[in-house]
Parts: sequence; C-alpha cells; structure tokens
Amino acid sequence: MQFAEIVGQKKIKRQLAAMADEGRVSHAILFCEEPGYGALPLAIAFAQYMSCPSKEGGDSCGTCPTCNKFRKLIHPDLHFAMPVSSTKTITADKKPVSDLFASEWREIIGENCYLTEQEWYEFIGIENKSGIIGVNEAALISRKLSLRSFEGGNKFMIIWLPERMNQEAANKLLKLLEEPPPETFIFLVSEAPERVISTIVSRCQIFKLTPAETEELAAELTEEYDITPDEARFWAGISGGSLSRSRALISESGKESEFYQPLAVLLEGCATKDLKKIVQFWEEISTLGREKQRTFCEYALEFLRRTLITQAGTPEVSNTPPAQREFIKYWAGRLKPAFLVKGYDVLNKALADIDRNVNSKYIFADLGNRFFLSL
Ligand SMILES: [Zn+2]
Repeated sequence: MQFAEIVGQKKIKRQLAAMADEGRVSHAILFCEEPGYGALPLAIAFAQYMSCPSKEGGDSCGTCPTCNKFRKLIHPDLHFAMPVSSTKTITADKKPVSDLFASEWREIIGENCYLTEQEWYEFIGIENKSGIIGVNEAALISRKLSLRSFEGGNKFMIIWLPERMNQEAANKLLKLLEEPPPETFIFLVSEAPERVISTIVSRCQIFKLTPAETEELAAELTEEYDITPDEARFWAGISGGSLSRSRALISESGKESEFYQPLAVLLEGCATKDLKKIVQFWEEISTLGREKQRTFCEYALEFLRRTLITQAGTPEVSNTPPAQREFIKYWAGRLKPAFLVKGYDVLNKALADIDRNVNSKYIFADLGNRFFLSL
C-alpha cells in the first residue's frame, strides 16, 4: 500500500513522511477517523514507507521486495490485531484471536482496504454480534512484539478498532505502549476514539484524519464507477468526504434505478386514471422477493420526501441524484402535497404488511388502489 493509493489526506501523509525521514516517529500512534477516510490503509502505507529501502518523493517505491510483501500483507514484521468473535467454524472454546482470521483479513483487505466494521463482521460471518479485542489477543500482541524482527528492520503492530478492546486487554497492553521493545511501532486505527480506554489514548500520539475533498473523492469515484464527473461530485459531496459512504450511496442508487420504472408506471396510471397500468404495477412488484419489495417501498418513500422538498422550493437540499432530478421535478409539478402525505402512510402500511408476511399480491394491489384513489 502506497500513500498515493489513499484518497486525500495530503497533509498527514506529508507529516508522516517527514517524521519517518527525520527518524522521530512515535512508538504508539492513534489514527482517528470517521469510517471511510482511509486510516487503515494510511497506517499500512506508513509502515511500508518506513520499511521501503527505495522510497522517494514522499512515498514508498511500491515495487521492491519489501513493498511487495507489504502489498500482499505477508511481511513477517507487519502484524495486525482486529476485533473478532466466535463463528460457526472457530468456536468459543478455540478462543478466537486475529491470527485465526489471518487469511480472511488478507483477502478482504486485498479487495477493499477501506473496510467498514460491519463489512468485516459480515465477511467472517459474525454480522449479528460485535467483535472484541480481548485479553488473549493482548497476550498474543505482547508475544509477537517481544520476538526479534524477522527481516532485521522495524516491527509493526496495527490494531484496528481499539474501541473494541476490553479493560483487561488494555491493562495488559499499557506497559507495551509505554515502553515498547526497540524498533517496534504500534499504530491504532479508531473510528470512535472517545470509546478507546483513556489510559491507552494518553500513551499515543494522535493524528486526526479529515474528510477527503470533494474533487479528490470525485476523481476516485469516476475511476471506480461508470458515472459522470457531475454525478461523482454529487456523491462525494453528500458522503461527507468518506469513500466507503460514497460507495454505499452509489450502490443504493443502483437499486433505485431498478425501482424507478415501476414507480413511474404506478404514478402515470394514477394520474391518467388508467387502471391497466395499476394492475401492471402490482403484478410486477408482487413477483419480486420480500427484500426487493421492501426496497421499492423505501425508494418510493424517498421519492415522496424529495418531491415534497422540491415543492417547498429547496430542491438543492433534497439530495436527489442527478439522474433522478428530472423525474422528481416533473412529479413535483403534478402531485398535490396532500397526496404526498397520504402516500407516505400507504407505503408505511405496505412495509408493515411485508414484515407480517401478508400475501404480496394483496399488499401491492391494495397499495395501487389507494394511490389510485388518492391522486
Ligand atoms: Zn519499496
């Protein structure tokens, strides 16, 4: 991982490189961020920078054997600890620690180093509970860092989400943070520094990452997705400068475009009093799975909200994606506010019925009829 692969964060990258060049890197650093600012890849890139023998221009070379080992996360002096929990295969009696998830960790970081906590839990199959960094993990961290460096250089321990560390584990690590063995660096990467145990925080130098600038993030998004620069700027702008949030929003909008058509059919049917269109609408929707039906209702609710805001004369705060603006503008000119309020109730009722496993045809025929009578 090179600094160049991380979106934005120019100032911190410069500071880190300068600290490394001048040999004054603290032995314990806490990187704080909002999810999606890139603190985890930044910590990895920093360790790589400190280890690369051919660094230049404020970044590691990216091609030497050391950089290659860092890129694959197989450098023997690069260690990770992250929250884990028992799974179907790694049961509680095996005392789950990060090492038991090493191959999963390498795999997912290889795909997406802007990993969110939830994505990690889903990937290892513990999505219904939170992971922890417990005392067994702390013992393992101490043991690994007491070993000599394998390649004769610095040793690194990156602790991802130290807010998941319990008191017992924190107590065990305090001494290590205070007086780490020589040439040992501990980087903590937190999304909730206010929840990290204070005795840990007080022993670290703190770096706070800032949101990526809209233009920088938009450039990354246009590379990743088939979207126009205008759309990319829109998503970057409403994501609050977070790459993972932008990605989630773009993926949700992909779902939206799937539901644009049935909603348009329903509204046209209501506006032109064309019952055939209403029947076409509910027949199509009722063949979808429950999850998709839920998403349709959520999309339609979002449509009503955006339409109301547009009618109020403030479309710029409706956060409507560029591709949907014409659609919203058109219906904002045609739908009465009273209908929008009524539609809101009808859709919420449909959502409740979906949860109660009511027959889909009944739910959407009822929804179509209510829309028809209200418009
Ligand atoms: Zn290198």
